[in-house]
Amino acid sequence: MNRILPKRIAAILFHFLIRIVYFCNALKNTMLPNSELILAIESSCDDTAAAVLNGRKVLSNCIANQTVHKAYGGVVPELASRAHQSKIVPVVQQALVQANIDKNDLTAIAYTQGPGLLGSLLVGSAFAKSFALSLNVPLIPINHMQGHLLVHFIEENGINTPTFPFLGITVSGGHTQLVLVKNHFEMNVLGTTLDDAIGEAFDKCGKRMGLDYPSGPQIDKLAQTGNPKRFQFPIPNMKGYDVSYSGVKTAFTNFIHKQTQNDSNFIHENLNDLCASLQYTLVQIILNKIEQVASENQLNQIVIGGGVAANSELRNQLLARKESHHWEVFLPPLKYTTDNAAMIGITAYYKLQEKQFGKLTDASKSRLTY
Ligand code: ADP
Ligand code: MG
Repeated sequence: MNRILPKRIAAILFHFLIRIVYFCNALKNTMLPNSELILAIESSCDDTAAAVLNGRKVLSNCIANQTVHKAYGGVVPELASRAHQSKIVPVVQQALVQANIDKNDLTAIAYTQGPGLLGSLLVGSAFAKSFALSLNVPLIPINHMQGHLLVHFIEENGINTPTFPFLGITVSGGHTQLVLVKNHFEMNVLGTTLDDAIGEAFDKCGKRMGLDYPSGPQIDKLAQTGNPKRFQFPIPNMKGYDVSYSGVKTAFTNFIHKQTQNDSNFIHENLNDLCASLQYTLVQIILNKIEQVASENQLNQIVIGGGVAANSELRNQLLARKESHHWEVFLPPLKYTTDNAAMIGITAYYKLQEKQFGKLTDASKSRLTY
C-alpha cells in the first residue's frame, strides 16, 4: 500500500504535466500571427523529409538520410522505397514535435507528386493521402522542381526573395535546367541537359575516383586545396540553351583509366587536383549557359536551386560575376539546397492561397513538367 501510493501520485502528476504542456502548445498555436500550418512531405529520391511551415516561416525541417545506398555507389530504387516506408512515420513525428504542433492543428498536407523515383513517390503520397483523409484537411500535390526554386520565398533571415520574372537554375542529381520563372507556378524550361545532370556527373566521376556516394560534397571539399587548371577536360559548346555532361564524364573516365594504367597511385597522388579540375569544368559548362541565357533574355536575377547549388565553386563564380554582368545572385542557404521538405511546404503555401488542392485519386508521376 505504502509503495503504490507514491507511484499513483507520480502518475497523476505526470498526467497533469502532459495536459499543461498540450494546453500551452495549443495556446501558442492559436496565438501564432498567421495560422496556416502546412505539413510537407518529400520522398522523391533517397531522402525521407518532413517539414512544418506556418505561412512562409519554417517551424521544422527534418530529414532522415538513407545510408543503405552507400555500399552500391548510387541510389537503389527498391531499397529507397523500403527505407521511406520505415522512416516516414518517425520523421513526420519529429517534424511535428520540433514545430510544437499538434497534428489536429494542421491546415493542409503537402507532398511531392513528382518527378522522382516512382516507388519512393508512392510512399510519400500514400502517407500524405491517408493523413489528410484522417485529419479531414486538404491535400496539396507539389512539383519537386518548383520547390527547388521557391525556397527563395521562405521567410527567414539570410534569404533574399527575387521578383518575377527571373532566371531559375535547377542543378541537382537528376536535373540541370535553365528556367524562365514568370510567377510562382508559371515556369518555362529554356534549356536543359541533353544527357546527364550536373550532380550525376559529380557523382559518377567521384565513383570512378573511389569516393563514396554522393561524391559532389566530397569533390567540393577536396577541390579546396587543388589546382583547377592542372588537368583540362572538354567544355562542350551546345547550340541553343541546352547543356551536356556525358562528354566530360567520358573524357574524365578515359583519362583516369589511362593514367592509372601507367601509375596505380595516380588517383591517390593527384586527388585534390583531379577534383578541382573536374569541378572547374562542370561548373564552367553551366556558367557559360547562364551567361548566354541571361544576356539574350535580359534576365539579371539569377536564382539557383537544387543539391549542386551547395557547390562552393558555382556559388563563388556566380558572385564573382555580379558586378561585371549587373546580376543579382540568389543563393539558397545550404540546408535548402539538397532535397528537403521545407521547399515542398513553401510551394504548398502558394497553392493554399489559391485553393489549388489535390484529390485522393491523383497519381504520382516519375516525370512531371512545370
Ligand atoms: P535530386 O533531387 O536529384 O535527388 P538533390 O537536389 O538532393 O538531388 O541533390 C543531390 C545532388 O547534389 C547529388 O548529385 C550531390 O552530389 C550533389 N551535391 C550536393 N552537395 C554538393 C556540392 N557541395 N558540390 C557538388 N555537388 C553537390
Ligand atoms: Mg532535388
